[in-house]
Amino acid sequence: MSVDKTPSMPVSVIGAGCAGLSLAARAAELPNHSISLIAPHGETPADHIWGFWAMPWLHAATSAARTQWTQWRIISADHNILHQSDTHPYCAIHRHRWLQECEKKARANGVPFEPELVVQAPVQQILDSRPPPVPDGMMLQHFVGWEVTAPAGSFDPTTAILMDYRCDQSQGMHFIYCLPFSDCQALIESTLFSPELLPSGFYETAISDYVTMICKLPEYEVSRRESGVIPLGVLGRHDPGLAGIGANGGAIRPSSGYAFSFIQKQIAHAVTHAVAGKPLPVGVPHSAFELWMDRIFLAVLRRRPDLAPRIFTAMAAALTGDEFAIFLSGEAGAKIWLKVIMAMPKLPFLRGLFHPEPKALAS
Ligand SMILES: Cc1cc2nc3c(=O)[nH]c(=O)nc-3n(C[C@H](O)[C@H](O)[C@H](O)COP(=O)(O)OP(=O)(O)OC[C@H]3O[C@@H](n4cnc5c(N)ncnc54)[C@H](O)[C@@H]3O)c2cc1C
Repeated sequence: MSVDKTPSMPVSVIGAGCAGLSLAARAAELPNHSISLIAPHGETPADHIWGFWAMPWLHAATSAARTQWTQWRIISADHNILHQSDTHPYCAIHRHRWLQECEKKARANGVPFEPELVVQAPVQQILDSRPPPVPDGMMLQHFVGWEVTAPAGSFDPTTAILMDYRCDQSQGMHFIYCLPFSDCQALIESTLFSPELLPSGFYETAISDYVTMICKLPEYEVSRRESGVIPLGVLGRHDPGLAGIGANGGAIRPSSGYAFSFIQKQIAHAVTHAVAGKPLPVGVPHSAFELWMDRIFLAVLRRRPDLAPRIFTAMAAALTGDEFAIFLSGEAGAKIWLKVIMAMPKLPFLRGLFHPEPKALAS
């Protein structure tokens, strides 16, 4: 009988956030790599929701989701697109729930949590998940959300509202994201895509206007708040000398800010293609074509944010629910891409083709 003598390769992951813990949770599937997490004691980040569409690489997250919706809407002043997908429902999971589950699995698999990096010469893979640097002037997704409780019958729990453009468009592309967890509880977020953050009152006024004027709720209570800023673009790494994972490994989709699904895709790829004696293959989970198209798209949104309601409703109208979920999860083939391109306003995108998001901001 031959015995595999290849020694287990040490893999040290800096940071115990989404990427670090999601990889550590899968340590049992990596018998030839010994994962450790570099997690100095610090404050636990506030809880928030991660949204994603159910995909084959997301079974564990889908089953831990708080809610799944097989229907969602994209709404503007003159369009209201309803999508349906039983195969790829939209899911919402709490950050704390996912990270606690991952930590439990990691500890059960004997993954050590170290306060600092110990260099284990001669062969050691270091994966850095510390946040990437964000250059000045970059396009950002910035948002404030309130989880509200209102009388029974206030929300339609069958349908998530991914974008509702019936809100103030004076400061850039702005939409309301509304996830109804039940008929009396919903997360309502005011979200902008623009290079400038706004005073918190702007987002809060947009949420309260939406609740009173669009949802028509005379009374409600705010039970939880969340906020965030996600850089939109192709980012450099926290330390150019170290390989990245998660947001620092290029997982944020530049055109949408979605990252959770892509982090899990990046990790699934590394686990599936791991080879004994070699570093884990952790790569950017987007194709060069997608990144190029996203630079064009961001250039259009930067110059013509007024077109955003038209662009997103046209894209949604051109696709079925399944196609929309697949497109936003980075799995679109030529047919879906063609439908999206044909639905876009041609002149602004032609201009974006020749003047995409500048290289200095995009790399
Ligand atoms: C409020 C919010 C809502 C979001 N919502 C969504 C969503 O709905 N859908 C979606 O797809 N994406 C969403 N994102 C984007 C993305 O999914 C998250 O940013 C995700 O957490 C990125 O995972 P990560 O592991 O790369 O970074 P993080 O989860 O931020 O982990 C980085 C870790 O590095 C640690 N660290 C920092 N410095 C050091 C150091 N010196 N040494 C050791 N550790 C260090 C931090 O403490 C942290 O634990 C959201 C982001 C935010 C902020």
